[in-house]
Amino acid sequence: MSDEQSPKGDVVDFLGAEGALAEVISGFSPRPQQIEMALAVEQTIESKGCLISEAGTGTGKTFAYLIPAILSGKRIIVSTGTKNLQDQLFFSDLPVIRKAIAAPLKTALLKGRANYLCLYRQLILQDDPGAFASPQQVNDFEIVRAWSEETQRGDISELSEVEEDAGIWPLVTSTTDNCLGADCPCYEKCFVVQARRQAQAADIVVINHHLFCADLTLKEDGFGELLPSADCFILDEAHQLPDIASNFFGFSLSSRQFVELTHDAISEYHKEAGDMADIKALADRLETTSKDLRLSMGDAGRRASWVELEKDEVVQEELQRVKVALVGFEELLKEASVRSKGLESCWGRCKEMLTRLNYILDGNQSEFVRWFETYRTSFRIHLTPLNIAETFQSHMENMQASWVFTSATLAVNEDFSHFSKQLGLDKPESLQWDSPFNYSRQALLYIPKDMPNPSDSNYHEVLLEKALPVIESCKGRTFMLFTSHKALRFAAEWLEGYCDYPLLVQGDAPKTELIHRFKEKGNAVLLGTASFWEGVDVRGEALSCVIIDKLPFASPGDPVQQAMIESMRKKGGNPFFHHQIPQAVIALKQGVGRLIRDVQDRGVLMLCDPRTYQKSYGKQFLNSLPTMRRTRRVEDVTCFFDSQKKDRIYLEL
Ligand code: SF4
Repeated sequence: MSDEQSPKGDVVDFLGAEGALAEVISGFSPRPQQIEMALAVEQTIESKGCLISEAGTGTGKTFAYLIPAILSGKRIIVSTGTKNLQDQLFFSDLPVIRKAIAAPLKTALLKGRANYLCLYRQLILQDDPGAFASPQQVNDFEIVRAWSEETQRGDISELSEVEEDAGIWPLVTSTTDNCLGADCPCYEKCFVVQARRQAQAADIVVINHHLFCADLTLKEDGFGELLPSADCFILDEAHQLPDIASNFFGFSLSSRQFVELTHDAISEYHKEAGDMADIKALADRLETTSKDLRLSMGDAGRRASWVELEKDEVVQEELQRVKVALVGFEELLKEASVRSKGLESCWGRCKEMLTRLNYILDGNQSEFVRWFETYRTSFRIHLTPLNIAETFQSHMENMQASWVFTSATLAVNEDFSHFSKQLGLDKPESLQWDSPFNYSRQALLYIPKDMPNPSDSNYHEVLLEKALPVIESCKGRTFMLFTSHKALRFAAEWLEGYCDYPLLVQGDAPKTELIHRFKEKGNAVLLGTASFWEGVDVRGEALSCVIIDKLPFASPGDPVQQAMIESMRKKGGNPFFHHQIPQAVIALKQGVGRLIRDVQDRGVLMLCDPRTYQKSYGKQFLNSLPTMRRTRRVEDVTCFFDSQKKDRIYLEL
């Protein structure tokens, strides 16, 4: 943006009571926290600094960083944790700002390649009816084909008629493995290429953490020019970043890669190398060995350390067979690679898969954890780094930009060190703004008495008995957030017999559909696990109570958690205090954040886990929550919803 084009003014001109935003947003109310955060972001951008900013729900942090970012006239990349927030920023917030500023603003939305239709793969599929696994896929393909003629962006989220997880999507979207790049016959019309070109030319680019990490680690070919050209990175929902980065800083090998490689090679053989019948024979052999490997790995739903399979002779034998098949296929594809760009690409992928398999078979990477997961017909083997701090820090140094990490949940008991250590941030400035909502008036924290130990077999039964009168006082309108699927299923069955309000249970319908029904019914009880703890926004009376079953410690059976804990112990650290508690505090804050979403909202938080007051570490959880009135008497919950008595509740903890 040139100086003449840059919007003029300071952040107060935009965010103040008489500011430009107040003119375009009806009911806009200035918030001191929002202005303070905007000033801090402005200062960070000017000084090329690094800011960690926690802003409680209702601060309006997207405007607090977008306004100074735009006023700076610099090139900014905003990254979000979820595609929902990405779309909201691009389609709702930025247009409002564009209205408020008197200057042109070039913005772009860029998602990962799996979000865009691949015209080349669509073309291939058109001539290959045998590739469809079901009549449903044939039907979906026709819908995709019709839409492809009118879409401008090729963003598959535009097509609501086809389910998000429909089997057609992997067939008509590309991966870095199978994209032909500049050699593609559809390159000039390619939606991925167009989206990237727009991003290159924009002042503000909205991406997500997956794409950010993919680019940082150069896992997205041809996209590496975007990040180095940015003057400032703003990472919203930053609490999700360490986990996402861990996945990208390692690698994985999946059965899907085997299937796609063999299918693409066979398709190229039919088109370009009909005389090389061995391609089909060796591709079939590779696909069969990968299926046999999956069978040898046991039941679906396993998620465990690789150690569990290391001593399994059958699995090891199958792995060796996969390796032999891969070596043979690689040699043949090398020979065939001169026939077409498609076969050359298959050869490159095959070589890369062999390298990955060798890494997995070599057990000497002490800084990585090897683990696997199984699905009904597929598997994925991972190599995940135990610590990403050094790598992340060195990427940041290479960028020479300013950095803003923000979220509603980054601090633990007002301390940001857990987050900053995970990313290796070097002396960042950290600031915290409490929510502008009046929690002590709007919310009540209820911790029931006489709860058994969370590990007791009757824990959830007692919990539900104590939850029933609360749900009754709230007239339904409740979210019950669970830390395990088992507990959720138990509660769903139990409540069926006792609860008079409509029950909505995770898994019975897609998440967005359940939230829609919850809002529509106005008296429902919704039961959910992890994905409902964050990113769900229900304002108003429909949500008046959040019940949390246990402190959300990560599952001790998780192979990455286990390896991290073990590694910290070996280094003399205390993983419980320095890793597990902070992680659980952040997760709890997310869950609690569902309750009060607006200045008019009122609600009860029922925190059932007795460890919050029995254990010394419980204080870390309670002190990290917004200041609410607290009680241990269920009668106070009834009073809270009684207009005559609602203010007569006293702290009893
Ligand atoms: S360039 Fe890649 S993503 Fe684009 S159409 Fe070609 S193969 Fe598909």
